[in-house]
Amino acid sequence: MTQVYNFSAGPAMLPTEVLRRAEQELCNWHGLGTSVMEISHRSKEFMQVAAEAEQDLRDLLKVPDNYKVLFCHGGARAQFAAVPLNLLGNSQSADYMDGGYWAHCAVKEALKYCTPVVCDITTRNADGEQAIKPMREWTLTDDSAFLHFCPNETIDGIAIDEQPDFGDKVVVADFSSTILSRPLDVSRYGLIYAGAQKNIGPAGITVVIVREDLLGKARKELPSILDYKVLAENDSMFNTPPTFAWYLSGMVFKWLKEQGGLTEMQKRNQAKAELLYSAVDGSDFYSNSVAKTNRSWMNVPFQLADPKLDPLFLEEAKAAGLHALKGHRVVGGMRASIYNAMPIEGVKALTDFMAGFERRHG
Ligand code: PMP
Repeated sequence: MTQVYNFSAGPAMLPTEVLRRAEQELCNWHGLGTSVMEISHRSKEFMQVAAEAEQDLRDLLKVPDNYKVLFCHGGARAQFAAVPLNLLGNSQSADYMDGGYWAHCAVKEALKYCTPVVCDITTRNADGEQAIKPMREWTLTDDSAFLHFCPNETIDGIAIDEQPDFGDKVVVADFSSTILSRPLDVSRYGLIYAGAQKNIGPAGITVVIVREDLLGKARKELPSILDYKVLAENDSMFNTPPTFAWYLSGMVFKWLKEQGGLTEMQKRNQAKAELLYSAVDGSDFYSNSVAKTNRSWMNVPFQLADPKLDPLFLEEAKAAGLHALKGHRVVGGMRASIYNAMPIEGVKALTDFMAGFERRHG
């Protein structure tokens, strides 16, 4: 069978070693004669899986002790509602930085619960490329409960690598498509959330990392299942958690540690991104319209000079084992998502294919 590289934006590729191990122990987990999916979340065996996953994630991200790590349901979109409902307190407003599709979706949800004060942080550089304004130009309001932004726009392929430093303002960030791709200074944030299905594990679980002093301010009508304080008090087991996703995410955390942790991931991810962007930049056949300073290492959108060739590109790529390269429906073109699990060989296979396609059809 041709080696397949899956460039899906999410659910995305998982490390092969993790899948193999899960396969081996699927029907007889830890000698119990049953799968991990079929045991109680409150059994001592599963509690250990859960605790180890949390500890490994804490180790990888160096999460300070005054932060809770929660494993939640509902994907990142549930957090679009949970964040304002938990953090507004007596305030009626929050500052939302709008830098792309997902930041915008967070605003739309927040509108149901408060007055989001939206700051458009998109701009164009001198070459007309899409860029993000530096943080010193982001406008904040005095009485807002928090500032929300999305450091990696999965669809637009735009990243904000600048580190937030907004004094006492609580910073909340949607790290869904970039968490664990490089080291992160958690202490700069009041709250970080990320849906699992890109760099963590399978869909169905969402990680929330929240500073303890922000707990306990929830609106009383907030469903308990979204209340961070309730989740923290119950070790994320207020109701039945998505146990299989939690277990598999835990295996991904162990894999990341074995690979050398986030400093190693940073090196690998940078090398992969450089390889792909230089293939795009080195040809008139392909293009990417994002300024170099804001290019995502995780999601690389690119366009063919002649969009009529898009279906053929996708067809030939698929035949070559390069899957899920179709860009998101709102932007079209191509998109290669190259999260932690994508090896450099996959990116090399893609750039070789791109060069060959250009020779044949350029
Ligand atoms: N935020 C970002 C940055 C995303 O990439 C996505 C999903 N692609 C979401 C939020 C929504 O995530 P979910 O489908 O898990 O709710």
